Amino acid sequence: MPELLITGGTIVDGTGNPGYPATVAVEGDRVRIIRGNGDLPESGRVIDATGLVVCPGFIDVHSHSGLVIQEDPKHLPKVTQGVTTELIGVDGNSYAPFPNRTELERFVTFNAGLDGAPNIRYDWDTFESFLSKFDRTTSVNIACLVGNSALRICELGWDQVEADQKAKANMRGMLREAIEEGAFGLSSGLDYPPGSYASTDELAELCKEVARVGGVYHTHVRYWLGDQYLDPYHEAFQIARSGNCPLHLTHFYHKSWNPHGSGPMFDLLEHEERNGADVTFDVYPYEWSSTRLTIFLPQWIQAGGPEATVARLSDSSCRARFKAELAETDPEGSWRSFQDWVRVGYFALPENQRYEGMTMGEIGRQRGHDVVDAFCDLLVEENLRVSEVDPGPAGHTLPKFIKHRLSMIGTDSIFLGDRPSPRTYGAYPRVLGEFVREEGLLSLPEAVRKFTSFPAQRLGLTGRGVLRDGFIADITIFDPARVKALATYEQPRQYSVGIEYVIVGGTLVLDRGKHTGAFPGRALRRGR
Ligand SMILES: [Zn+2]
Repeated sequence: MPELLITGGTIVDGTGNPGYPATVAVEGDRVRIIRGNGDLPESGRVIDATGLVVCPGFIDVHSHSGLVIQEDPKHLPKVTQGVTTELIGVDGNSYAPFPNRTELERFVTFNAGLDGAPNIRYDWDTFESFLSKFDRTTSVNIACLVGNSALRICELGWDQVEADQKAKANMRGMLREAIEEGAFGLSSGLDYPPGSYASTDELAELCKEVARVGGVYHTHVRYWLGDQYLDPYHEAFQIARSGNCPLHLTHFYHKSWNPHGSGPMFDLLEHEERNGADVTFDVYPYEWSSTRLTIFLPQWIQAGGPEATVARLSDSSCRARFKAELAETDPEGSWRSFQDWVRVGYFALPENQRYEGMTMGEIGRQRGHDVVDAFCDLLVEENLRVSEVDPGPAGHTLPKFIKHRLSMIGTDSIFLGDRPSPRTYGAYPRVLGEFVREEGLLSLPEAVRKFTSFPAQRLGLTGRGVLRDGFIADITIFDPARVKALATYEQPRQYSVGIEYVIVGGTLVLDRGKHTGAFPGRALRRGR
């Protein structure tokens, strides 16, 4: 007897095919499709999905939930979007493998403005021991990449040093071990030290290891390289080509301040694809970027890890060097004026909480200090733990990225502060409500394909991403007429509406929009 029957709905199976009416039976953790209008079997529970779409659960290929979900396993910002699986360890920043607990905790401090520093037990070291944190403890499934920052910290420490042959071989060895333990590939975030100290060659060498087992190279490119427009992507393609490795460009979009538009970006992508590159990308459907505030610091300030960074930020001669560099490389003062667009949050100190949601420019004026000093002071006071939101994708070219046949959706969700980017709460419902229903930019089955079978194919997830007999019962049920993101730049912490039911591994997690308290998620392990 099936535990659950979903009747009356339209099945949109995730392949991009048009929907069709049928009943979905959930038996254990698997799906059986019942066609026709004959008698239905008895069942423990029947969900009447009349008027609703029944589809595979959404797979988010870029999430910053690896630590915060351990503290808040309900994970409502994402479950209420229909997400059943998230990919973590993105941007080069994975929390495994680590050589010891001290280095792990230093990395948590260093990256706290991006992934948070929740009060949890940091008691893992290997990749496997990290993954085991997610077995039946959270609402959603977790898949994880190996970040090259973690590999570098293990092998070379935190300094801006070159990896010799031996170091590269050792990092390859660690990467191989993590992949054997279930990692889906390698990530890099080439704005984020210490992973950003890696050369093109070093990354290509690591990619050879990923390619051997069919993993993916998932990269936040070196945005400040060369022309700061196409050159970062040229490097990514070069790395993938040298490593003979599948390439995934994460948050691939046209920056709002760039005058050259999106055309040359697509030309490059399609040219590389025609020449044999195995390439895909993800994008989030909002104009607001977000990361740790230290992203705006030069790399030399961040060498050596969190203590050295804080020491340089406190040191007047280092600050003077930072200001002199700005005067020389940025004579128009765009770094300073941009701070009027950098909204900050996630303060630990009570006296700083009044700054939640203000821009760095405003904080500088309130403190009566030069914005560079206010910026450095705040990072020192908060021990680097500050998150920020700033203008990212250009609104007028964003639809082209959402619609492109090589794109999937990666929310890049960051869960910190009172006012995170709205992408954390609204990404999938915004695509369904605005881009599909209101604008007719893409069809509903095509949007669902981008959320489900395409990311599953990219990661090599077994038995997920399609709603078909024998597949795992990760299921999202939504109202296509009502689904809508409510999150905005001004009020981002608003749950979306219209996602009615979410089922993970056969267990209901969201029931008529309410969390059931069940934690059926598990760590997904590559090849298993
Ligand atoms: Zn990210």
